Amino acid sequence: MFDLTRGDTSHQTPQDVDLADLLDGEPWGPLADSDGCAYCGATPAVAAPVRWCRGAYILHVSLHVKEPFCRTCGTAVVRGMSATTLAWAWWGIGSFVQGPLFLVANLVARARFSRLGEPVGAVRPPFNRGKPLLRRAAAFGLLVPITVIGLVVAQFVPSAP
Ligand SMILES: [Zn+2]
Repeated sequence: MFDLTRGDTSHQTPQDVDLADLLDGEPWGPLADSDGCAYCGATPAVAAPVRWCRGAYILHVSLHVKEPFCRTCGTAVVRGMSATTLAWAWWGIGSFVQGPLFLVANLVARARFSRLGEPVGAVRPPFNRGKPLLRRAAAFGLLVPITVIGLVVAQFVPSAP
């Protein structure tokens, strides 16, 4: 599922990202003839890019999805992809830089989804939104960059005599 040889940010279909696996949802089958949410079919929906990346030493993989999602599914996608980024971005050089940018971009997407009205007309249950990001275990991933940046800063701060 995660191809760590792929280092570029290219547009991927939700099937490639395997959102259903990431979000604990049903197998992904985008609704072709719907102008609503790509997952559940509800309207209103908006296409806001959501990104994730994960690293492994010098390799990293970064993906984004830009399908229309309703408020519920969009929130779930943002939370799921941000949680993966929070947990895994820090373990590669490129993704260490990319991860924080993606997390900020996902906040922008989150704001766009939350401005949508209540989803109506779903043809199947939406993604499970799950817990807010900072109440997930992945939030502990934040300690990694904080520690690394702290150690780097400590090198340049003269110690008291
Ligand atoms: Zn939906």
